[in-house]
Amino acid sequence: MRGLMQDVGLTLQMVTERVGELYGDKTVATKTAEGIRRRSYSDVVERVTRLAAALTQLGIKPGDRVGTFAWNSDHHLELYLAVPCMGAVLHTLNPRLPADQIGYIAEHADDKLMFVDASVAPAWQQVPPVAGIRAVVVMDDATEAGRSGAGVLPDALDYEALLDSADASFAWPRLDEGDAAAMCYTSGTTGMPKGLVYSHRSSVLHAMASLFVDCLALSERDVLLPIVPQFHVNAWGTPYAALLTGASLAMPGRFMADPPSLATLVAEEGVTVSAAVPTVWFGVLQAIRAGVVDPAKLSSLQRIVCGGSAVPEALLRGFDDLGIRMIQAWGMTETSPLGTVANLKTTIPEDRAMATRLTQGIPAPSLRVRVVTDDEQVAPWNGSTMGELQITGPWIADAYYDPQAPQGRGGQDRFTEDESGRRWLKTGDVAVIDADGYVQLLDRTSDLVKSGGEWISTVELENLLIAHDKVREAAVIAVAHAKWGERPLACVVKADASVTTDELLAYLGEHVARWQVPDDIVFVDEVPKTTVGKFDKKVLRKRYGDYQLQSSNAELPPG
Ligand code: AMP
Repeated sequence: MRGLMQDVGLTLQMVTERVGELYGDKTVATKTAEGIRRRSYSDVVERVTRLAAALTQLGIKPGDRVGTFAWNSDHHLELYLAVPCMGAVLHTLNPRLPADQIGYIAEHADDKLMFVDASVAPAWQQVPPVAGIRAVVVMDDATEAGRSGAGVLPDALDYEALLDSADASFAWPRLDEGDAAAMCYTSGTTGMPKGLVYSHRSSVLHAMASLFVDCLALSERDVLLPIVPQFHVNAWGTPYAALLTGASLAMPGRFMADPPSLATLVAEEGVTVSAAVPTVWFGVLQAIRAGVVDPAKLSSLQRIVCGGSAVPEALLRGFDDLGIRMIQAWGMTETSPLGTVANLKTTIPEDRAMATRLTQGIPAPSLRVRVVTDDEQVAPWNGSTMGELQITGPWIADAYYDPQAPQGRGGQDRFTEDESGRRWLKTGDVAVIDADGYVQLLDRTSDLVKSGGEWISTVELENLLIAHDKVREAAVIAVAHAKWGERPLACVVKADASVTTDELLAYLGEHVARWQVPDDIVFVDEVPKTTVGKFDKKVLRKRYGDYQLQSSNAELPPG
């Protein structure tokens, strides 16, 4: 027997309709060099309609890819709605990538138009010509008025002029919920970036799930500041979630790495919730400790969603002390990205609360996770059997985009099927799952150190080092070793010039088994970061891969 309910497709048009009908008075505020530009959502929806009409006039058809090369802003938000809702596919590109990779991605995705923030126009000019791009549109992101980007790039169109000349009415097409809504490429820490294609359905379900109280608990009462870039997994999907629930948005523009600007935005907009990688939040804490940011400016901020790399205890405690709850989440470009969230179940006893908050969390509703060992066994949830984390659910990728493959479905070696036919994504993350279902990430498969046949988690060593008063940053990598195969080497940024190698190794020896203690420490000025603020261990491995270790802490067989 079939259900007898209405077959309404889950498309992002729902988001546009809802925000227009119910939350027109709420606002999106964007930080610019001049000050803060505010726009009501009713204004945004009106402009979105014009933008859809303008895209059509420029020859954009359903399924065409429309690229963006921009920071978090009201303009970018307008593109987030107009492009998918008129049936085209929003493709966000990362302006911080090397020019040749940007060119590769735009070519690979077959982008037809590119919307470029004026401040990154010089970076766009470095990109080799992309055959399919018919026009470039420049958006002014420097001024509060945001009126004109004309003349910034030769032959480019001006965003505001385009909207002014477009029709104010547009007949939205009927879309299928399985149609592509957006594309995003992985940040490519290994090899060339790989493309993911989000559907309308996956985007709407992901946004809805973000609203659950046991997920990110976003509501109409919130003012959300997504610091995670809109070009990085759709700012973790938070703009769609905010619009769906009527939360106001505060956008940092190109000031996402500037703690004083962020603090001002929080204070002026009354931001209640924000999302960013740990590096950003360490920057904010340091700015507070250095007296550059007045913590009173953050008084409206209630909670922070933090992920993208492991959240160290020192960071959680730093924000606990400010009365701001930091919630760890884990995800990937492949998972839209919301995968797991470390909210505490009421059954977790007080003495395990901190340890549990430091896990990556339990899967978001409708997702399932499992760990599969090296010998292809599904690991028990015992907190100790490690293996590759796999995940399945309605907003988890089913393929990587490959225009050469049948139906564009590439990368099939990254997916597996269980006996019931259910598809699982192999995440490339190494994890354990405890009896309560909390996932603890140990490493990327490519970052683990294998010493004398035993694995050493670099993430655990990094977290311990970062918790040390005299350490600002730490990244641990594998170094080749004749006897043990690989040994850990720690790259440390000092917070206190007096700190010594012996002091840090002795400290680690108090917390982990002796054979897990790194064999040496190199002090560096800075840990290299990827364009989205994660430690770039590829660079460290290149620099120190043949580092000559003097002696090894692994002289006793492990076990
Ligand atoms: P990306 O696709 O660039 O967002 O990177 C995804 C990868 O970031 C994951 O596969 C993890 O290795 C890492 N990651 C994301 N969130 C966390 C987290 N909370 N803790 C540790 N690693 C994380």
